[in-house]
Amino acid sequence: MTSSSQQAVLAALAAGILGEAYDPAVPGRMLELLHRAPGRRDRDRLLAVLGALDTRVGALLLAGRPAPLSGVAPAEAEAVVRRWAGSRLVPQRRLAAAIGPLALLAAYGWPGPARDATGYPGPLGPPPDLPRRLVPLRPDGDEELACDVVVVGSGAGGGVAAAALARAGLDVVVLEKGGYRAERDFTHQEGDALRDLYLYGTTLTTDDLGCRILAGSTLGGGTVVNYSTSFVTPPAVLAEWAATSGVEAFVNGEVEAALEAVAARAGVTEAESRPGARDRLLERGLERLGWHAGPLPRNVRGCPQDAGCGWCGFGCRTGAKQSTLVTYLEEAAAAGARLVVGADARRVLVDGDRAAGVEARMDRRATGVEAWAEGDRAAGVGARAGGTHRLVVRARAVVAAAGAIETPALLLRSGLGGRVGHHLRLHPGTAAVGVFDEPVRWWEGTLQARYSAQLRKLLGPDAPIFETVPAHPGTAAVALPWRWAADHLDLMARSANLSLVGVLCRDTGDGGRVRVDRDGSPRVRWRLNPADEARMHAGVVAAAQVLAAAGAGEVFTLQRQRPAFRPGDRDGHRDWLRAVRRAGFRPGRTTLFSYHQMGSCRIGTDPATSAVGPDHQAHDLPGLYVADASLFPTASGVNPMLSVMALAHRAATLLSARLA
Ligand SMILES: Cc1cc2nc3c(=O)[nH]c(=O)nc-3n(C[C@H](O)[C@H](O)[C@H](O)COP(=O)(O)OP(=O)(O)OC[C@H]3O[C@@H](n4cnc5c(N)ncnc54)[C@H](O)[C@@H]3O)c2cc1C
Repeated sequence: MTSSSQQAVLAALAAGILGEAYDPAVPGRMLELLHRAPGRRDRDRLLAVLGALDTRVGALLLAGRPAPLSGVAPAEAEAVVRRWAGSRLVPQRRLAAAIGPLALLAAYGWPGPARDATGYPGPLGPPPDLPRRLVPLRPDGDEELACDVVVVGSGAGGGVAAAALARAGLDVVVLEKGGYRAERDFTHQEGDALRDLYLYGTTLTTDDLGCRILAGSTLGGGTVVNYSTSFVTPPAVLAEWAATSGVEAFVNGEVEAALEAVAARAGVTEAESRPGARDRLLERGLERLGWHAGPLPRNVRGCPQDAGCGWCGFGCRTGAKQSTLVTYLEEAAAAGARLVVGADARRVLVDGDRAAGVEARMDRRATGVEAWAEGDRAAGVGARAGGTHRLVVRARAVVAAAGAIETPALLLRSGLGGRVGHHLRLHPGTAAVGVFDEPVRWWEGTLQARYSAQLRKLLGPDAPIFETVPAHPGTAAVALPWRWAADHLDLMARSANLSLVGVLCRDTGDGGRVRVDRDGSPRVRWRLNPADEARMHAGVVAAAQVLAAAGAGEVFTLQRQRPAFRPGDRDGHRDWLRAVRRAGFRPGRTTLFSYHQMGSCRIGTDPATSAVGPDHQAHDLPGLYVADASLFPTASGVNPMLSVMALAHRAATLLSARLA
């Protein structure tokens, strides 16, 4: 429960952060976002702080002014947030890092004065009136099911595994914690899409708030929202994986064959990679520098590759993106697999010494199936009563494919230990941003069509690669540094003329870890190590060069102070280089983004360094298999979807042979 004074403090702070972009709908949306965050502990703490800020003592201690914060003028609230953001004290910096993104996303993610001022057109018309092709199961209350294999998660890993297992004649149940949303449901309203299709509504971060963690959470998982880039695992990475894990399959042709199989099924092609304005600028800059530029292979069939494609991160309305939703899950369902949505797997059931099924919490409100909500209303079922119940699925084997954050969380909740949760990799990303004379509209155009591996040639295989990403106003507002309200407003007003070169880093540190809180929710610890920070720095400097060569009038980074230079101004560039180096990329200095989580239930022969064996079976629990990005021995170094699909293909092939 939120008190009115907590709300009032939130409103005051939001008004300070947003200035003229503030509107009264913002605090309510901030609270809604806050309630999407995974851990109750952090949420309760933040709410307690908000409450304290509305007392004289709390405000004096935390904001340096002996008067309750609710009702202060926006300029005063803005000054408080600026002090927090620049503070030497970690709690203050954390407050700014927690509240700022909530306010910015709440203001720019939905229609309203903030978004209107950016020139963003919003969704391009209504979704198509196409029938949904899948019919997820509808348990009406507490229920028990039995099957051969229960698959947890329906994304790149779970979707592929479910189809292969069902095709092998096994009775399969897929549990997906997100809802079922198909073409007709893709409203392309950014805030709604981030809330309904993404894990924890995009509120998940590392525990130091240094990196925001984005993942899909809907039937089809990440493959529904992702940017369709489809790299096979580089041979050098396969060799590293074999050496790290002791698993021969990475180098004896087995994984390569699996990569070929999934790439063929997912329709991977370079023939549908027409660049939009963002990618044309990336390519132009690279070509002018004489640097590597290549077309991105994509998993699409009949992609329009037009302006509307930029919204496809909120679901592809034409069905061109070959997500597991329109490929493997349809195949699985056709072969008899039962799909259950709104089913949050809480623990793996154990019988004797074997995994014997899964217990899940059903949340009908998360299903996305209108008929259910209508049915609940007609039956007079209130949100609470109709909200949650229990589903037990008994099975001969369990496949965990809930993604690299949620799979270890499920296993830890189920009492597994060892290396479960260790070795997490995040592919931290940042960007250089250019201001152009011509409109770029960085939200539109083919999702991703060009990349550059130039730095890998120069600095080796762990160097970052360059790609662009579609930047819609809510996401852009969070990513663009907030220095003070008017400065951020001005930047957002120029959104249509911004473009970016994304710097996608391969992280090499081994200390990343997923743990679970007392309420079972994941807590992510991850730090950027000095070697990776140095490579990220080199990447940002080079990305800025690309934008300058492409014709940007000004270039800046996403670091908090937003260091900038004007191409051609040599002194300015020298100062900029100094400022970028001084700022660095640690928490409080910049916010990183992770679109790729990997490695937290590593495959390997040695239980001292891995969580699952070469056959994908948990070292500690026979009958429990892992088939998602958690398996990676280290970071893939390229966008990981195809690697995940290939490993899931392998896991399902081994498991179906065993159960047949
Ligand atoms: C915006 C975005 C863009 C991306 N672009 C690309 C790209 O262009 N190319 C590329 O290669 N990669 C891309 N990725 C990454 C890629 O999508 C993921 O690496 C991949 O989907 C991971 O596969 P997975 O099976 O491990 O997990 P996911 O695909 O994330 O699937 C996990 C599923 O499990 C569900 N789940 C979680 N917990 C539970 C539970 N307790 N019970 C039941 N279900 C649960 C989730 O809701 C989710 O649907 C992108 C990711 C994002 C977020």
